Amino acid sequence: MTAQPRISFVSLGCPKALVDSERIITQLRAEGYELVKTHEGADAVIVNTCGFLDSAKAESLASIGDALAKNGKVIVTGCMGAEPEQIRAAHPGVLAITGPQAYESVVNAVHEAVPPAHDPFMDLVPPQGVKLTPRHYAYLKISEGCNNRCTFCIIPKLRGDLASRPVGDVLREAEKLVKAGVEELLVVSQDTSAYGVDMRYAPSPWQGREVRTRFYDLAKELGELGAWVRLHYVYPYPHVDEVIPLMAEGKVLPYLDIPFQHASPTVLKAMRRPGNQDKTLERIRAWREICPDLAIRSTFIVGFPGETEEDFETLLSFLDEAKMERVGCFKYEPVTGATANDLGLPVVPDEVKQSRWDRFMARQQAVSAKRIASRVGRRIKVIIDQPGPTVSKGRSQWDAPEIDGNVYVASRRPLRSGDIVTVKVERADAYDLHGVAV
Ligand code: SF4
Repeated sequence: MTAQPRISFVSLGCPKALVDSERIITQLRAEGYELVKTHEGADAVIVNTCGFLDSAKAESLASIGDALAKNGKVIVTGCMGAEPEQIRAAHPGVLAITGPQAYESVVNAVHEAVPPAHDPFMDLVPPQGVKLTPRHYAYLKISEGCNNRCTFCIIPKLRGDLASRPVGDVLREAEKLVKAGVEELLVVSQDTSAYGVDMRYAPSPWQGREVRTRFYDLAKELGELGAWVRLHYVYPYPHVDEVIPLMAEGKVLPYLDIPFQHASPTVLKAMRRPGNQDKTLERIRAWREICPDLAIRSTFIVGFPGETEEDFETLLSFLDEAKMERVGCFKYEPVTGATANDLGLPVVPDEVKQSRWDRFMARQQAVSAKRIASRVGRRIKVIIDQPGPTVSKGRSQWDAPEIDGNVYVASRRPLRSGDIVTVKVERADAYDLHGVAV
């Protein structure tokens, strides 16, 4: 073993899993482990798995197989760790399997496989922890688990009911990140608008005051830290209306990531979706009156069991009316263990799913293109993600990293990642904007 034990890490799945990975890595770094990029030559490998869809499980199993072949000492954690039998059946040689958020068990498993080096001068971890995201943005995980029971989803089975972090802890973490140079905080959880319900909105001390563990209060306080604040996984509960004025005032980014999943009341009922979905269009209109710059990103599922052509047409009209900026669409895939499999609803044939997906994408592309083109001629703020010699790649306030579009910024002066610059938008294409730094 080398003086500093070396660990290779694979992080699969959603931003929430990425936050788990960051915590595990932070702990290991604090204990003197070194993180290496390749499995070959590492003393052990950790695979943080995703078990949300069957295709994600297959990807997780393949990653474990790859790590076993290249290294041999493999510790498995994450969502798929909640189903150890499946992993053991495919890969009996793994050293340990732990479930999601079992940070201590993962770290213990690492200690057993590769004991930590006792070096008092070992690498010190920066106080804000180790980030897997670029330094200028960071995911802020505010809770674990979910109280909803959407019929297509097994996350509550894997991760349990909602468990919010006290608001004081979240704000302290956010403050540390901002002090360490983070310019954009991405708030994530399974159900951000339900934040604090499980704690009955218990207050925590923050800067000499009491702040409630509640969605609005968190958004308001985060908005005072001087970084961009972006809200993900927000369900349209009535109290979501309260944060729109914070967006209009520029405290929180004018951006809402709301996974609507469908628009037909029958399908939404069969999906058992949370939130008040009846008057969604009216509410979107009211939000845009208060904050005309609001961008909405959403995801939808087509081909859910029982979805009729009429339901699907309702969804297409919703796209036209809601005029959302960014939309993703998935073809329904049955997830092992999900209630949707037992609803007894007629399965939508694959070719119908495919054709609905094509029609959905074509319809939404026209809507998105119009919304994006409406920014041409404006001066907007852009955060730089990837500086280039003449053109840098960045994002507007309406675009989250990884999932939305980009702004290509021509600039005579050199830009650095994390810079927030004013850009005059000159043209738009289907997804991205192009402009000049002013
Ligand atoms: S809100 Fe629904 S889809 Fe999202 S995690 Fe909870 S149960 Fe799953």
